[in-house]
Amino acid sequence: MMEKSSIDIFDENYATITQKIASAAQSVGKNQDDITLLAATKTVDVDIINHAIKSGIKFIGENRVQEFLSKHDSYLSVNKHFIGHLQTNKVKDIIDKVSLIHSVDSYRLAQEISKQAVKHNVVMDILLEINIGNEQSKSGFTAHEVFEAVEKIAKFDNIKIKGLMAIPPVCENPQQNRPYFAKMNKLFIDIGAKKLDNSSMEILSMGMSDDYEVAIQEGANMVRLGTALFGRRNYN
Ligand SMILES: *Cc1c(COP(=O)(O)O)cnc(C)c1O
Repeated sequence: MMEKSSIDIFDENYATITQKIASAAQSVGKNQDDITLLAATKTVDVDIINHAIKSGIKFIGENRVQEFLSKHDSYLSVNKHFIGHLQTNKVKDIIDKVSLIHSVDSYRLAQEISKQAVKHNVVMDILLEINIGNEQSKSGFTAHEVFEAVEKIAKFDNIKIKGLMAIPPVCENPQQNRPYFAKMNKLFIDIGAKKLDNSSMEILSMGMSDDYEVAIQEGANMVRLGTALFGRRNYN
C-alpha cells in the first residue's frame, strides 16, 4: 500500500477535528463558530500549510522567529500569529508581520513590543501567557501576578491586551488539565469584569492536540493544534 500523503493526512484530520470542536462546543452550549482553530505550523512545509489555508484554516501560529521569517512570505492569505517563546531581541523582526503575539510572558518582553510597535507605527495585539501550573520550567505570569500585569502593561504605548494564553503541565490524561483550564477561565472572566482601558478579555487561547476538547469545555475560544492536524512532527 502507498503511504498516505501529508495532504491526505491533513484532510482526514481536519474533518475529524472540525466535528470534535463542534461537539465539544455544543456540550457546553456554544457553537462551533465560537471557537477559533489555529493551526500550529512549526516544522510543517509551506505547501501543506497553503493546502490547509485553501481548505479553510484562517489562523496559523509559528513558534520560532527564524522559521517564521523563512516561511511567511510564501503563505496564502491568512492571519499570522506568533505562539512560541519570543526573545526580546527578535521582536523587531516580527512586529509588522504578525497580527497577534500569544506568548507575552514578561514585562521586559511587553516593553520591547511596545517600543518596536511605536517605532513601526503599529498597534500590536497581545495575549499574556500564564504559567497556570506554576512550573519552574515555564515562563509566564503567575495567576497572582496577572491582575497587576494587565493593569501595568495595558498602559504601555501601542499595545492592546486581547486575552490570555496558557500551556498547562504535560499530563497523561487530558482530564488532568481540566482544573488548570477552569482556573484560566476564571482569571479571564475576573479580569474582563474589571473593564480596564486598552485591555479586553476576548481571546482565551488554550488547548492543544491532546486536550483541546477539555479546554473548549472549560472556556477556551482559541485552540492551537499541530499534531492533531498535520500528524507527528518529524524534526530532521
Ligand atoms: C507546538 C505548539 C502547539 C501545538 O502542539 P500540538 O501538541 O502539536 O498540537 C500549540 N501551542 C504552542 C505554543 C506550540 O508550541
